[in-house]
Amino acid sequence: MTAKRVLLLAATTGYQTGVFAEEARRLGMDVVLATDRCKGIEDPWGDGAIAVRFERPEESLKSLLDTVAGKPVDGIVAVGDRPVYLAALAAEKLGLPYGPPAAVAASRDKYLMRQCFRIAGLRLPSFFRIGVNDDPHQAAAGAPYPCVLKPLGLSGSRGVIRANGPQEFIAAFRRIKAILDSKDIRRLREPHHRYIQVESYIPGREYALEGIVTGGRLQVLALFDKPDPLDGPFFEETIYVTPSREPAQLQEEIVVTAREAVRALGLKHGPLHAEMRVNSHGVWMLEVAARPIGGLCAKALRFQGGMTLEELILRHATGEDVSAARLADAASGVMMIPIPKAGVYEGVDGVDEAASTQGVEDVLITAKEGQKLLPLPEGASYLGFIFARGESREDVEASLRAAHAKLEFRISTALPVVTA
Ligand code: ADP
Repeated sequence: MTAKRVLLLAATTGYQTGVFAEEARRLGMDVVLATDRCKGIEDPWGDGAIAVRFERPEESLKSLLDTVAGKPVDGIVAVGDRPVYLAALAAEKLGLPYGPPAAVAASRDKYLMRQCFRIAGLRLPSFFRIGVNDDPHQAAAGAPYPCVLKPLGLSGSRGVIRANGPQEFIAAFRRIKAILDSKDIRRLREPHHRYIQVESYIPGREYALEGIVTGGRLQVLALFDKPDPLDGPFFEETIYVTPSREPAQLQEEIVVTAREAVRALGLKHGPLHAEMRVNSHGVWMLEVAARPIGGLCAKALRFQGGMTLEELILRHATGEDVSAARLADAASGVMMIPIPKAGVYEGVDGVDEAASTQGVEDVLITAKEGQKLLPLPEGASYLGFIFARGESREDVEASLRAAHAKLEFRISTALPVVTA
């Protein structure tokens, strides 16, 4: 039997891309990597990574199709937010299940996404967008308070700020504008980065759902609680624990709403990461991303038979039935270790002690010595990750908190926050 060939599209050659490539090789698949960060890698998979520019999808599609011409491709996997649209275009041309492109495009733009949700009748905050070069005073005078200002296409809560009144609105607007005007965002040339979205603030508890869509039908892989309050002004992700503590009926309502959101966007095939809030009015979708949970967090999920999330996604992308996949652990979770202050990372003590905490499986520090650290809302990274497993979600949460308390980070005196 010939090996299956999978096209892997990645904006970075970071950890998650490496895991996908390794898992694919372990499964006997041929990997064709397409990335826009080719300079730094020396053909890591001996396959010659295809150079693409995600901001120029039509042009990149052509080089992608030229490269794979005559060679059958069995599946497409995109790692991260930026490559999903090109992946959807390529899948459409190659006749592979994915996207479709319009649905994936809507999932990458919070304004388009809200419009799709509105048409489908989902519960939704009031929302509007303003251009980054517009004068924000008029919008500030008419905004619904409290409200949240956010970029349309960033992730990890970067640039998401709550405002309780016009003054805070103007300050938040300027702060987000500085992020969107920065070189690293402008170089992406994404039209949606020229706007800021304003939404009325949705109070409530927050959840994240990891799933996979087949033929438009959502299969839930895990529902995570986010036990730490997320009231703003910034919305730092910390702990994710599954299974959820919520009663079955509420969990079902969350799943039903997520299914409606998948339909509203028109997503048909592939991994999905969704976030939602719940209060006395019901379930409110925050967003649906047509990609798996970011980076290292996928390690929090392990499926029966030892399957990783990446393996499951690769199998699914190449046409296997994954509907029988079940989580292997009674409970599991991850803590994304937030950056407490701006500065230069100098090191950490207590990693071995943290790692030997009951229930803790791994402590991975991803900050590098000498690295400049920026907390939210400007920052886009974590200090590291703690993973735990246990018999109950309470055990897992306690393990994560106990391990975190043993870590002592050394961050040198604060640098001025770089805003442009
Ligand atoms: P990102 O894609 O960067 O994660 P989100 O739109 O999901 O951006 O927002 C990040 C976080 O900000 C959410 O997880 C939530 O905690 C908070 N948030 C965003 N929008 C709202 C809102 N309208 N009401 C309340 N909280 C919000």
